Amino acid sequence: MKRLALCHTPTPLWHHPALDALVGCELWVKRDDMTSGAAAGNKIRKLEYLMADALAHGATAVITCGGLQSNHARATALVARELGLSPVLLLRTKDPSAAQPLTGNLLLDRLVGADVRLITPDQYRARAELMAELSAELAARGEVPYVIPEGGSNGLGSFGYVAAVEELMEQQAAGDLPPDVDLLAVACGSGGTAAGVALGLGRCPSVARRVAAFAVCDDRAYFEDAIAGIVQEARALDETLPPPALLEIYDEFKGPAYGVASAEQLEFVSRVARACGLVLEPTYTGKALFGLSRLRDKPSRALFVHTGGLPGLLADGEVMAAAWARAAVGA
Ligand SMILES: *Cc1c(COP(=O)(O)O)cnc(C)c1O
Repeated sequence: MKRLALCHTPTPLWHHPALDALVGCELWVKRDDMTSGAAAGNKIRKLEYLMADALAHGATAVITCGGLQSNHARATALVARELGLSPVLLLRTKDPSAAQPLTGNLLLDRLVGADVRLITPDQYRARAELMAELSAELAARGEVPYVIPEGGSNGLGSFGYVAAVEELMEQQAAGDLPPDVDLLAVACGSGGTAAGVALGLGRCPSVARRVAAFAVCDDRAYFEDAIAGIVQEARALDETLPPPALLEIYDEFKGPAYGVASAEQLEFVSRVARACGLVLEPTYTGKALFGLSRLRDKPSRALFVHTGGLPGLLADGEVMAAAWARAAVGA
C-alpha cells in the first residue's frame, strides 16, 4: 500500500495518576493529538494513504466535506497545500448566507486559501452527489480532482489506524506501554478510526483485548453498518488483513447532538484540564473519555487514543466558559 510520511510518529504514550482517578482505571493515552503541528489529530494518519493515492492518480485538487468546524477538512486543506494540491471544502452550516466566525478550523481553512463552499444540513445529506458534481466542475476547468469522503473514512483511510496499532505493538515491545490492556477506547464520528483500530488489533492482538468506540452522533446500528462496510473495503484492498478484533459501540454518551455536549460532559473536559493539563474538546475526545469514565464494566487497564481536535475547542470558548462558570457555582 502506498503511503506518504506526513505524521510525526511514534506519537507518545502518556500516563497521569490524576487522570486515572478521574476516569476510574489505569489509563494510558496515545497522543495522536501530537501527530503534527496545525494538521495534528487522527485524520492525518488516514491522509498518509489517501493523499498517496491522490498523487498516484495525478491529482491537482482535493475535494472533501464536513461540518463548519471539521478537523478532517482542516487537516486535508493543510496537507493538500503542503503537497501542492488545491483544497476544496464542502462545509455544513445552518445559514450559509450568514457571516461565519473566523475561528478554529475555519480560520486555518481560510489561512491556506481553501475554496470553501458552505451548504445547509439538508444539502449535506447529498454530500456524495455534491462532491461528484464539484469534481465534474473542476475537471471541466482542467483540474484533476480527487474526492475524499467525510472523515477520510473509507477502506484506504482506515489503514492509517492499522499502522497506528502496529506502532503501538512496537511501543509495547519497547516497554513504553504495559501489557494486558483490557480495552482500547476511541471516539467515533465517521467510523474510520474505529474500523482501522479493530483491524489493527486483529493483526496485533497482544496490544489490547477489545475496542470500545464511543459514538458522538448517530447510533450503534448506524456505526455497526458503517464500520462493517469500511472493514470489508479494507480487507478487499489488503487480503492479508485478518478479521477485526471485538468492537463494541457505545451510543449512550453522545450527548444532546453532534457538536453539542451536555453540562456534565463540558464539566468533565474542564475537570480533566485542571487536574492534569490534558486538553480534550467537547465534540469528540471529551465525550469519549467521559463515556469511558461512566462505563459499568470498568476495565482495569485502558488505552485511550487522543484523536486531537484542539482547533475545534478554540472555537468553543463561549460554551466552555458557561460550563466552568456553572462548575464554580457548584463548587
Ligand atoms: C474525526 C475525529 C474523530 C472521529 O474519527 P472517525 O474516524 O471520523 O470516527 C475523533 N476525534 C477527533 C478530534 C476527530 O476530529
